[in-house]
Amino acid sequence: MIRPIKRLGQNFLQDPNTARNIVAGLVAKRGDPVVEIGPGTGALTGLLTDAFDRVTAIEVDERAAEIIEDLWPAVDIRRMDILDVDWQALRKELEAPLHVIGNLPYYITTPILFDLLDAGADGDVKEAVMMMQYEVAERLIAQPRTKQYGILSVAVQQAARAEILFPVSRNVFFPKPDVRSAVVRLTFGEQDPALHVDTAHLRMVVRTAFNQRRKTLRNSLQALTGSLGRELPEDVASKRAEELSPSDFVTLTRYLHGMPPRP
Ligand code: SAM
Repeated sequence: MIRPIKRLGQNFLQDPNTARNIVAGLVAKRGDPVVEIGPGTGALTGLLTDAFDRVTAIEVDERAAEIIEDLWPAVDIRRMDILDVDWQALRKELEAPLHVIGNLPYYITTPILFDLLDAGADGDVKEAVMMMQYEVAERLIAQPRTKQYGILSVAVQQAARAEILFPVSRNVFFPKPDVRSAVVRLTFGEQDPALHVDTAHLRMVVRTAFNQRRKTLRNSLQALTGSLGRELPEDVASKRAEELSPSDFVTLTRYLHGMPPRP
């Protein structure tokens, strides 16, 4: 055991049943490349090596990387920051779409998610099974017109199928985190091709709309529509951001950028 470092989000999973259930959340087959985010002291890693032939693990803590190397020499351990991973290069190197798993370091859940959404949209990641804060998991699957519905909900649901697999109590970690957790699975590559949109454009529209979520889109998007030289259709202009579904946002983004409603 190593002394947990709070700054690295180190809350180590202590419960073998929870670990088994997380690994069982992967749909991957034995030969598929599996990439673990933050293996720590290996709560999931041993189970992953039992179930899969090719396990790569990304870890920044040298102490943890040494433990993984000693206990599971077959694991391809990479000592690096998960936010520096080039997912496309890794997919090419491993010659197949990646299946990602991990008990995330909670201080960087959102940037990890956005990186994976991009990698999923590019076909580099096929699925991701991740433990995260329950409150973030709820935002991923939130429906329009709810308090949780926002930028993350639209970004995730436009790019992937998102499911909460099960909740996880604070009590199964050492040290105990401040919040409860949930395991989420994202599955990529199943979306309607009609929902295709430039991701940067979509994120700009969604971010601008939700930055002033109480206002009508006529007001919140005023500067953006002005700079793009477009006027909002009346039925959209009178709505607020939280009333638009992810596909409504795609249609709106395509319209603002002068593209036909559907390809
Ligand atoms: N998988 C282990 C478990 O379930 O007990 C550890 C999970 S712990 C919540 C998060 C892990 O991510 C830690 O091992 C931590 O060192 C690692 N980590 C933190 N920041 C990271 C980063 N930027 N890149 C890669 N790994 C990171």
